[in-house]
Amino acid sequence: MRMYDIIEKKRDGGTLSDEEIRFFIHGYTGGEIPDYQASALAMAIFFRGMTDEEMASLTMAMAHSGDTVDLSSLGNRTVDKHSTGGVGDKTTLIVAPTVAALGGVVAKMSGRGLGHTGGTVDKLESFPGFRTELSKEDFLRIANDVGLCVAGQSGDLAPADKKLYALRDVTATVNSVPLIASSIMSKKLAAGSSAIVLDVKAGSGAFMKTVADARVLAEKMVAIGKSAGRRVCAVLTDMDVPLGHAIGNSLEVEEAIEVLNGGGPEDLQAVCEELASRMVSLVTGKSVDGCRSDVRRVWQNGEALDKLALLIRTQGGDDSYVRHPEKFPQACYHREIRSKQDGFITHMESASIGTVAAMLGAGREKKEDRIDLSAGIYLRKKTGDFVHTGDVIADFYTASAEKADAAEDLFFRALAFSDTAPEPVRVIYDVIE
Ligand code: URA
Repeated sequence: MRMYDIIEKKRDGGTLSDEEIRFFIHGYTGGEIPDYQASALAMAIFFRGMTDEEMASLTMAMAHSGDTVDLSSLGNRTVDKHSTGGVGDKTTLIVAPTVAALGGVVAKMSGRGLGHTGGTVDKLESFPGFRTELSKEDFLRIANDVGLCVAGQSGDLAPADKKLYALRDVTATVNSVPLIASSIMSKKLAAGSSAIVLDVKAGSGAFMKTVADARVLAEKMVAIGKSAGRRVCAVLTDMDVPLGHAIGNSLEVEEAIEVLNGGGPEDLQAVCEELASRMVSLVTGKSVDGCRSDVRRVWQNGEALDKLALLIRTQGGDDSYVRHPEKFPQACYHREIRSKQDGFITHMESASIGTVAAMLGAGREKKEDRIDLSAGIYLRKKTGDFVHTGDVIADFYTASAEKADAAEDLFFRALAFSDTAPEPVRVIYDVIE
C-alpha cells in the first residue's frame, strides 16, 4: 500500500477502506509517513469529506493508536461528558458530582484551559492541595470509592490525534466535521466510559458558529459512538452568550457551588440539569424526566455538594472551601465596568469575552503560561438586558490596574447595543439521541 495512492483516491472523491485508513494512522503515528503527506490527506478530507464508515474507521484507528483506559472494573455505569468548549463553561464541576450522587460513575480525564476557553483541571486546582496527577491505580480506586474522579490527561491517549491535531492547526484543516468528530470521539473512546454525553455548543464562543453546523457535528459524533458500541447522546446548547455570570477559575468554582446548593444562574442550571439527567438516564435506564427531578433533589438536599466535597478531600484538596467559598483568595485589583450608553445589550462576542478574561490573568496563550486562579470577569448584565449609562455591566478581577486597562477596550468592542430588545436567547436547542 502507498500513501500516495491514498491521497490521490481521496483527492478524487473516492472512499477509503478501513485498511487504508489504518495504514495511514499507523504509519503517521510511527513516523514512517511524513507530515507533508498527512497534510495533503487532511486537506483532501477537508474538501471531499468522509462517509460515516470512513469516519468510524478513522476514529477507531486513532483511539487505538496508544494507551486506552480500561474501566471495566467499575461496572457498566461509567459515564463521561464532553463539551466542545466555551466561555464560562463550568458544567463538569456541577454535573460530575451530581451524576455520582445519583449512581453514575464518572472517571474523567480533563484538560487545562488554552486561548479563550477554560479547563476543568485549572478550575479544580483552585482548591488548595487538589491533585490531578494520579496513578492508574489511584484513578480507578477513587472512581470506585467516590463514584467520581477527575485526573489530568496522562499517558499516551490517542497519540495519532495529538499529532494530527497539531498538524491541522497549522495547515488550516481544523474546521472539518469528519476531522473534528473523529478527533473528539477517538479521545472519548480511548478514555473508556460505556456511556458518553456530548455538549455541542453553537455560537460566537464556540467552534461551531451556527446551530445547523453544531447539529451536523453532533449527529456525526453520536453515530461514531454508537458504531463503537457506546451509549451516546448529544445536547446542542448555546454558546453565543457566556454561560452563567462568572468567567475565571475560582470565580467559576464559586458559581458551580451555588448551583450545587440549589441556586445559581438559570441558564447554567438548565444546561447542567439537561446534561446530568441525560447522563444518569443513559446509565440507569430511568426516564429523562424522572432523572430531572432526581437532579433537582440532590441540588436541594446537598447530596451533590457532599460528593464534590468528598472528591476534593479524596484527591488531596482542602474541602472546607466547598462550604466556605469566601475563603478563595481575592484578586489584588477590582474594577467595576460601567456602560457608556443606554440600550439593550444585543450581542456579546463570547470568544472575545473569553480573551478578556485571559488578558486579566484567567487563561493562557501558550501551554507553559501560568494563570491567576482568582482573576476573571463577573458579568452582571448579559445579552437581552437593558442598561443605563453608568450601570455596572461587569466586574473585572485582576492583578493590576494596567491589566484592567488593557482588557477594557476589547470588552467594550465585544458588546453591541440597540434601542430594541433582541430575540430571547435559547439555552438548549435540541437533543440528539
Ligand atoms: N477539539 C478536538 O479535540 N479536536 C478537534 O478537532 C477540534 C476540537
